[in-house]
Amino acid sequence: MLVGGIPIGGSAPVAVQSMTNTDTRDASATLAQIARLADAGCEIVRVAIPHADALDGFERICAGSSLPVVADVHFDYRLAIEATRRGASKLRVNPGNIGSVERFDAVLDAAREAGIPVRIGVNAGSLAAEYADLDWPLADKLVASAVSFTEHATGRGFTDVVVSAKASSVPVIIEAYRKLGEVLDCPLHLGVTEAGTLMGGTVKSAVGLGVLLNEGIGDTIRVSLTADPVEEIAVAWDILASLDLRRRSPELVSCPTCGRCEVDLIPIAEEIGRRLRDIRTPIKVAVMGCVVNGPGESRDADIGVAAGRGVGVIFAKGQIVRKVPEAEIVDALMAEIASLSLPA
Ligand code: SF4
Repeated sequence: MLVGGIPIGGSAPVAVQSMTNTDTRDASATLAQIARLADAGCEIVRVAIPHADALDGFERICAGSSLPVVADVHFDYRLAIEATRRGASKLRVNPGNIGSVERFDAVLDAAREAGIPVRIGVNAGSLAAEYADLDWPLADKLVASAVSFTEHATGRGFTDVVVSAKASSVPVIIEAYRKLGEVLDCPLHLGVTEAGTLMGGTVKSAVGLGVLLNEGIGDTIRVSLTADPVEEIAVAWDILASLDLRRRSPELVSCPTCGRCEVDLIPIAEEIGRRLRDIRTPIKVAVMGCVVNGPGESRDADIGVAAGRGVGVIFAKGQIVRKVPEAEIVDALMAEIASLSLPA
């Protein structure tokens, strides 16, 4: 399956996506946010179409976006149909809230005509009444709803389907996606919805998505944070990198510090982490507080520093290259990284 030019499913790498939170009618602001998301590593972007007066903005966004744009539509199926004519690369609908099977069919027909995929996005907060009222565990209700809609679509010959079943509970989504992975063979879009603010939402997303991705479940991910969407992209890439699935930026190995540390390592590591954000090459950088694990980790990294009493011993490609005072550690380490002649 292709969303714009981005492959989803099969052996394709897990794709990273996010959603704009600007007013869709303000195409300029939304395109500016999409540009920031793309720069951070977003590969697919979703844009809400809450009502008909967002359609013109949506069309301009599709025309100006460097990323494939997914139309996110609830309730009014006519907006989804219209979005297929305005440049959407994919639709996201929750068939349970668009009124009837006939309306879902009309959306599928429009997507087929436009040649774009549809995500069947089931959410715990907006389950169709026939599932919400069941006296079943939430994960089973999500799965039954998602499978029913998916089988309906494929039964009509529409197979260009991605499926999600989101909830804010990590155990619920793990159980739901495991079951979906067993019964469906279409790509799965993973997410913990309404996960929370930056810290809490990052932890929930990392645990939920991490467990599933580590089991080979999931083809595209969206981290949902009550924060700047650009943060979602950073977290998504960190999740993929921590599982060695994909990496697009440096890995920072830094020690937690302890009573042996004789430099003020935390601000040094934070500053190096900030500066590494501008680098798009997956090198390994070590920032270590003393001789216990410092030389070993630093030798194992592309560039590293092992701190001593008020000094830092700088390593490059496994060799000690110099020793600098504490105040010069950050600049010395970044100078060694610059000398690696990394691609821009
Ligand atoms: S590397 Fe040294 S300072 Fe850092 S946590 Fe380990 S023992 Fe402590």
